[in-house]
Amino acid sequence: MRALPREDADLPPKMAREIAKAYEPQQIEPRWAEYWVKEALFRADASAPGPVFSIVIPPPNVTGSLHIGHMLDHTEIDILTRWHRMRGFNTLYLPGTDHAGISTQRVVVRQLAEQGIDYRKLGREEFEKRVWKWKEESGGKITVQMRQIGESCDWSRERFTLSPELSRVVREVFVRLYEEGLIYRGHYLTNWCPVCQTVLSDLEVVHEERQGHLWQIKYPVVGRRQEFLVVATTRPETMLGDTAVAVHPEDERFKHLVGKKALLPLMNREIPIIADEMVDREFGTGAVKITPAHDPNDFEAGRRHNLPEIDVMTADGRMSSAAGAYAGLDRFEARKKVVEDLKALGLLEKVSEHTHAIAICERSKTIVEPRASTQWFCRMKPLAEPAIAAVEHGEILMVPENRREEYFNWMRNIRDWTLSRQLWWGHRIPAWYCDEHKHVTVAREAPAKCSVCGSSKLTQDPDVLDTWFSSGLWPFSTLGWPEKTADFEKYYPTSLLITGYDILFFWVARMIMLGLHFTGKVPFRAVYLHSLVRTSSGEKMSKSKGTGLDPVALNKQYGTDAMRFCLASMAAPGTDIVLTDDRLAGSRNFANKIWNAARFLFVNLDKFEQAGGSLEELASPAVRAKAPYSVGGSVPLVDAWIFDRLASTIETINDALANYRFHEAAQSVYQFFWGDFCDWYIEWVKPELQNADRERATAAWKNLFAVFDTALRLLHPLMPFLTEELWHQLPQPAAAKSIALEDFPEAKRNQVDPVAEKKFSLLQYVITVVRTMRTETPVDPKKKIAAELSSQDAMVRELVEANLETIQRLATLSGLRVTSDPLLGDGIFRQTADFELRIPFAEVVNPQAEVARLKKEVEGLLKAIAAKESQLENETFRSRAPEHIIRGMETTLTEQRSALQKLQERLKQLEHNT
Ligand SMILES: [Zn+2]
Repeated sequence: MRALPREDADLPPKMAREIAKAYEPQQIEPRWAEYWVKEALFRADASAPGPVFSIVIPPPNVTGSLHIGHMLDHTEIDILTRWHRMRGFNTLYLPGTDHAGISTQRVVVRQLAEQGIDYRKLGREEFEKRVWKWKEESGGKITVQMRQIGESCDWSRERFTLSPELSRVVREVFVRLYEEGLIYRGHYLTNWCPVCQTVLSDLEVVHEERQGHLWQIKYPVVGRRQEFLVVATTRPETMLGDTAVAVHPEDERFKHLVGKKALLPLMNREIPIIADEMVDREFGTGAVKITPAHDPNDFEAGRRHNLPEIDVMTADGRMSSAAGAYAGLDRFEARKKVVEDLKALGLLEKVSEHTHAIAICERSKTIVEPRASTQWFCRMKPLAEPAIAAVEHGEILMVPENRREEYFNWMRNIRDWTLSRQLWWGHRIPAWYCDEHKHVTVAREAPAKCSVCGSSKLTQDPDVLDTWFSSGLWPFSTLGWPEKTADFEKYYPTSLLITGYDILFFWVARMIMLGLHFTGKVPFRAVYLHSLVRTSSGEKMSKSKGTGLDPVALNKQYGTDAMRFCLASMAAPGTDIVLTDDRLAGSRNFANKIWNAARFLFVNLDKFEQAGGSLEELASPAVRAKAPYSVGGSVPLVDAWIFDRLASTIETINDALANYRFHEAAQSVYQFFWGDFCDWYIEWVKPELQNADRERATAAWKNLFAVFDTALRLLHPLMPFLTEELWHQLPQPAAAKSIALEDFPEAKRNQVDPVAEKKFSLLQYVITVVRTMRTETPVDPKKKIAAELSSQDAMVRELVEANLETIQRLATLSGLRVTSDPLLGDGIFRQTADFELRIPFAEVVNPQAEVARLKKEVEGLLKAIAAKESQLENETFRSRAPEHIIRGMETTLTEQRSALQKLQERLKQLEHNT
């Protein structure tokens, strides 16, 4: 390529002197990804002026690698970040990762196990060291991938939820909430995962309908021979921990038994028979077993009646020593054994099939065990109220709006949040207990003495906090809160949050609650909840493995730009995205089309210089800004038209991006670049670029470059690599560093030209109609033919006359006679509202041969249609053939019928005229 000779030694490193023949994203993308990071182009400056756009990344798990959900998320974030930056905003896109308590601990535990090391034997401190080492060595995968896909983050501000700075914020928040009475320690029934070996919050549990059994068990009444109470359960092994049987106080059947005792089978323990209103008289036998340590309702009943809790299970889902003879058995083996033993004793009344909802751990997919334990909790109601109001009053805009209702529903019914997790990897709960009295001391740093009794013998709570606790603080912890840092003052509240709707409650809601509580301000002014990406069931993503949607492999295959563009073009709010190879290939073709257009410009630049133009001129933003250039005092129609189209495209794109309508922005720039610019404008002005008249040639070049440069900037947020590469190939001022730092186009009102738009559309229509007539006839595509155009409208005739040469060139005509008279003679005719067109038969290869060919085609179609019709009328066939075959045949039939109709019309016309 013929770029400007530059003196600046700080040039981008690559600067190919020749534009490559073929568009190869694999060659371009790594180079620019590296350049953007190395030059620190996207470093934010809190002291710089300008309106602010700040966004924090939804921190991906440090164990993670880029999946298709990230790809969509990060594409949308980066599009809006680049767009704002180019519009002059003081822009910060803050990257970082989440320590991901459970996932990370599991990864490292597994790795140690492979080396034959039991992590428990290592001890907590050594284990933590190993995890940090793992994090340093393998934890950066996703941030490397983020650099590879060109995200315009400020890497100098990268954060990690478990870093010393962010851990300090976590302790600060915990202590303050504790002091305000919003965090408390309590003994409650919680969800326990025997595989993850920790409690889970309600959100981490999913419910599934499963087929199970309902067992009815007879409990003998003590002191009354042959009298039993029959209870029903879906988890017979829990009976080993029963501490009562309950009946309804007004149930006449059992009134005489209340206050007496039942003998718990298998354990031979006497338990009280109590009366409680929670018992449903209509359900089952009317008597229920009470297991306070293993059922939420029983837990409450246990409190009301002061019953003991007997935890019959261990952390890993086995039966504990409290389970007597069953101790050590896996919970499901114990279930079998309990049932067998009851049967042997004649105490199993009945077994029936039973479908019920089962709680599953969303990570390990194990059945969750309700278990009573002592944990830390956060009171949510007082935090939720202001967070509801903030969304209600529009302080936070939620897009799409229909997610608001889900948010309100959840927030209005919010329950206390179980904060503790029985893990080693995470923020350790800042609570210490004195050895002697178990007094609690909550503090920011390890205390020397018990705050109650002054004892110096203290032990820290072994648990860590739910990972979502630290991510809930992310928008302000990453900016330096509680200090009033320059970053916090400048960039908080952040402008926007973009994330998947599936973590609305886990993350978004908690950020709103904690942000409002601690900073007094919303954490972000808007939240855009994007859709999910799916493969279509029919079309597999053929060339990739696993789920078929590995963005890293797909980026390699199609180019990151194609992937970004493809995702954006389908990202309509509220609809899920179906990603297919075809769509990706289409986006890649788009990039290819732009590449070829650019190649045409660059390889012909010497013609501009021959016409007396200089590259310095083209490189000057001032020169570009003066476009459109006129010729002989007026702007040529084609230029007026393309600048009008450009102005309206710019307006559409700015409007679309302001409203999170990524698909509209993508479709609009696609239509402009491919249709208007490549297919029409370049083709139209090609001869002008070589015009012997210097004024005309240089004006054409300057206009062309101005449009191309503007279109590249328009496309940049969507396809950053391709546009960066081509922009550097264009002549640019010496100090120019990156298209990403240039201005985003603003629509220029004075370039809107509806008259030019109308006139040019008419010319396009004339050419399109001739082209269609040629392909339908058909005429040899390369053969120049003569045609006639008639119009009653003098404006139409004048316009066509004035552009005759171009029309003839683009429609492959040897001549076009323009008249106001009716068109006579033989040939093919087309009538439109503004004009009529005729191609005489003399121009068509051989009208007779055409008639014969058409007749043959009609015959063939008639046969095919008849065959299909008889097959579809055949009842036996219809009843046997699969539904999709029949539907396919019906579709083909409709298509064939319409093709037949067209052929017959053309045949009639031909026969009439020959
Ligand atoms: Zn104490």
